[in-house]
Amino acid sequence: MTATATRVLVLNSGSSSVKYQLLDMKPDSAGGSAAGTRLAVGLVERIGEETSRLAHTPLATGGDKRETEGPIADHEAALKAVAAELSADGLGLDSPQLAAIGHRVVHGGLKFTAPTVIDDAVLKEIERLVPVAPLHNPANITGIRTAQALRPDLPQVAVFDTAFHTTMPEYAARYAIDVATADAHRIRRYGFHGTSHAYVSRKTAELLGKDPSEVNVIVLHLGNGASASAVAGGRCVDTSMGLTPLEGLVMGTRSGDIDPAVTFHLKRVAGMSEDDVDVLLNKKSGLVGLCGDNDMREIRRRIDEGDERARLAFDIYIHRLKKYIGAYTAVLGRVDAVAFTAGVGENAAPVRAAAVAGLEEMGLAVDADLNAVRSGEPRLISPEYARVAVAVVPTDEELEIAQQTYALVNA
Ligand code: ADP
Repeated sequence: MTATATRVLVLNSGSSSVKYQLLDMKPDSAGGSAAGTRLAVGLVERIGEETSRLAHTPLATGGDKRETEGPIADHEAALKAVAAELSADGLGLDSPQLAAIGHRVVHGGLKFTAPTVIDDAVLKEIERLVPVAPLHNPANITGIRTAQALRPDLPQVAVFDTAFHTTMPEYAARYAIDVATADAHRIRRYGFHGTSHAYVSRKTAELLGKDPSEVNVIVLHLGNGASASAVAGGRCVDTSMGLTPLEGLVMGTRSGDIDPAVTFHLKRVAGMSEDDVDVLLNKKSGLVGLCGDNDMREIRRRIDEGDERARLAFDIYIHRLKKYIGAYTAVLGRVDAVAFTAGVGENAAPVRAAAVAGLEEMGLAVDADLNAVRSGEPRLISPEYARVAVAVVPTDEELEIAQQTYALVNA
C-alpha cells in the first residue's frame, strides 16, 4: 500500500444484491481520526434477473444519482458494472489511492473475533461456516472472490457481523441442550448486527462524554431485522439473535423468540415441510405476519386510522422490546444508557416512547419534545432527571467496516 492510499471500498454482498460505498479515510485536516468521507455510494439489485438495477451516487463530484436497468447476470458482472461507474467519476478500482476492500461477512463463527485480512485459509473457514449461515455466507464468499479477481494485489478484509458478540460468556452463548449434540453441529448463540452494536455502543459512550470501558449500554438495533444487545464496558455480554438471525425481537418478517415446539406442531399437525416452516418464520411472520405490513410508518398510519390488527402488531412488538430491556437491565446490573438505532429506532418516535413507557422505576423515561426532534445526529431523548440516558444513535455499519479495514491494513 502506498502512503497516498487512503480509500476503502466497502462491499456488502447479498444473495441477489451488492451494496457498496467508497470512503476516503484520510485523517481530517486537524490531524484527528480518519474522517471517512463518502466518495460514492450505490446498490445493485436483482442480480441474475432480467430487471437488474444499479443505482450509483457519485458524492465526490456532487453528481446526481445515476440509475441503470437491464440484466446483470452474476456478482462478477455486478462488480464490474460498479467498477465502471466508479471509473466514470475518476474513482476506479485501479486507482493507487485504493487501500483495501472491506467485506461485510455475516457469519464468522467463534474463530473470527476481529476483522481479518482474507487469504485462502480465511476463505476456507468462511466456507466451512456455510451450514450455519446458508443464506448469507455463500453470497459473501462470491463477493470476496469477485473482488479478489478484480484487484488480486489489494488487501481484502473480512469484517464479521458475529465478531462483536464473541465476548459473550459461555452461559449466555450456550443453549440448554445436550452438549455433545450442540458441539457436533456448532449450535450456539452467535448473534448478528455486531458491527452496528459495536459502533452504536461506542458512539453512545461518546455522547455521554465517557470512555466505552466506563459505560453499560443496551443497544436496540431496530431495522427490518432487529436485535438487542447488552454491552458492559465496551464488551458484548448478551445479544438477542442466536444461531441464526431468527431469534429474539419481533422483526419486519421474522417471528423472533418462539417455542421451538411450534415447529414440530406445524410439521406434525399442519403438515408443513421443513422449508415451509422456514419460510413461515423468516418471511411471513413478525410484523408482516401479524398485520400484513412490515413498514413501521405504514403501521403507525393504520393505527392512527383505528386499525386493530396494526395496533395489536405494534403492541406485540413493543411488549417483546420491553422484555429485552428488562432482561438486559438484569444482565448488566447497572445500565447507563439505552440506545435506539437503525430504521425504526432512529425514526419511529412512537416506538421509542412506547418501549420505555412505564419503566420509570427502572430509571427510564423519554422527554416527549426531545423524542419528537428529527435529526441525523446522536442525541439524548431522556429528561434530565432520568437515571438512565435514553439515546438515539444513528448506526453506520459501512463507516465502521471502513474504519476497521483501514486500521487493519495500516497496522
Ligand atoms: P434493514 O437494514 O434491516 O433492511 P433499516 O435499518 O433500513 O432496515 O430499517 C428499515 C425499516 O425502518 C423500515 O422497514 C421501516 O419499518 C423503518 N423506518 C424507516 N423510516 C421510518 C420512519 N420515518 N418512521 C418509522 N419507521 C421507519
